[in-house]
Amino acid sequence: MSAAAELWRSFDGQVVASGNCMHCGACVGLNPHLLEMEQTEVGPLPRLRRSPSPSDIGGLRLAWAVCPGRGVPFPELFRHLGREPECWLLGPYRAIYLGYAADESIRRRAASGGVITALLVHLLETRRAEAALVVRVGLESAERAAAVLARSPEEVIAASQSVYEVVPTLQRLEELSRLDGPVAVVALPEQAAAIRMLQAAGHEGARRIFFVAGPYVGTNMYRGAVRAFLRGHGVGADVRVRSLEWRAGEWPGRLRVELDDGRTLEAPKFHYNYLTPFYLARHTLMTPDFTNELADLSVGDAWRPDLERAGGGHSVVIARSEAAARLLGEMRQAGLLFLEEISAERAIAMHAHMIDFKKRGAFLRLQRQARHGRPVPIYGYRPAAIPVSRRAVERLVGIFVWIGRHRGLLRWLPPGAAGPLFAWIRRAWKAVSKPVKRRGLSATRFLIEPESKRWEEILRAAQDVYEAEP
Ligand SMILES: Cc1cc2nc3c(=O)[nH]c(=O)nc-3n(C[C@H](O)[C@H](O)[C@H](O)COP(=O)(O)OP(=O)(O)OC[C@H]3O[C@@H](n4cnc5c(N)ncnc54)[C@H](O)[C@@H]3O)c2cc1C
Repeated sequence: MSAAAELWRSFDGQVVASGNCMHCGACVGLNPHLLEMEQTEVGPLPRLRRSPSPSDIGGLRLAWAVCPGRGVPFPELFRHLGREPECWLLGPYRAIYLGYAADESIRRRAASGGVITALLVHLLETRRAEAALVVRVGLESAERAAAVLARSPEEVIAASQSVYEVVPTLQRLEELSRLDGPVAVVALPEQAAAIRMLQAAGHEGARRIFFVAGPYVGTNMYRGAVRAFLRGHGVGADVRVRSLEWRAGEWPGRLRVELDDGRTLEAPKFHYNYLTPFYLARHTLMTPDFTNELADLSVGDAWRPDLERAGGGHSVVIARSEAAARLLGEMRQAGLLFLEEISAERAIAMHAHMIDFKKRGAFLRLQRQARHGRPVPIYGYRPAAIPVSRRAVERLVGIFVWIGRHRGLLRWLPPGAAGPLFAWIRRAWKAVSKPVKRRGLSATRFLIEPESKRWEEILRAAQDVYEAEP
């Protein structure tokens, strides 16, 4: 067997078959002639187009080196970016704000405060970016999402709002290498990690990316959730979708699906969450990064009772790089963004539940996976200790996840009742588990692993590719 075929076998076994793929699409973007993404019940997965030949070894080695499904060397990446975190719950930051876009039409259309869209529009208008890689519903078909290179403010605005579907954005890496100018990218945490590893390795396309805007990500869903929602409302598989929005209308927004037969079906954000356990993207249980710690700028919903009452759309915004801090300052001064600085403690309190889910929960879930003898992603740090009470809560999370594996149960859950019921369960669960989930969270100490072999592998991989080229 050739070295390339052997490497693909390891990749397939350790990442794909073991369920550790994070669906970022980087392996396909680096090897478009060899690999393609195939839609499966558990998300898009890389598959061979043909047998690997010896000349594929360079591209495969790079894909293997930067695959977030094997883990992410966070400490080395932070160091490489010159950003050592003071706070491992949030990652490195320069300043944290609450805010929203001044342009009401951007703010109202967006997922939370429209900060990401306003920023991308500004980068295009000031010609600092030639294009922005974003995700948009309705291009391939009215109900499917895909990554697209937006070259005008109109195209960026058309792609605003969150899409709760796993989209392998980085399969478009090759296209980035062909661009003349710099590009801004909206990347989910695992995609941002792959980009940073590729940049460290010297990959040309990744180096075109001069700005990474990163949404916070709690959980994501596999494709199929929308059809399950429609099935629950008695819509047959043959009825076509005319348009789909995940965060339509007043913040926090509603799922709105318009059908070809003239009907429109809607569910408020906290109601359609009943789909999450059944279509939960498994990798979002396994990553400790909620706030998109490797992005230049991270943005989440600003969940705070007074802001929720005020409505309109509010974001929590973390400037991590100098470029992000400068850009926010400039946009604020130009009256394009409203920003109010807040402390890290307030940002943590706003999302303590999800931060705990990732910073302690993910490590407990990984321990369990390792006990079952399955490969686990390695992150280069871990919490020094997790209280027994928190471990007990994780058992209940495990039960929810297990129930969610039985999608057939959805047939028995009429969405009219399931939505409100789920919203109630969610509120009750948050209230009951709050004391345990918050206890000791802020004081959690993290053990940082010494330099890893993985880091050397990343730095060497690109060198191998370029040396292998004739
Ligand atoms: C899957 C997912 C889960 C999230 N979970 C949480 C959470 O638990 N808590 C929280 O506070 N916030 C979460 N967010 C972030 C939140 O929904 C908003 O994206 C964020 O507040 C930015 O708001 P905005 O108004 O500035 O974004 P907008 O101005 O609306 O811009 C959003 C940008 O993100 C791009 N985008 C949308 N979906 C995707 C995607 N799937 N992959 C890549 N790019 C995408 C769009 O193309 C657009 O450019 C999540 C987002 C996503 C996509």
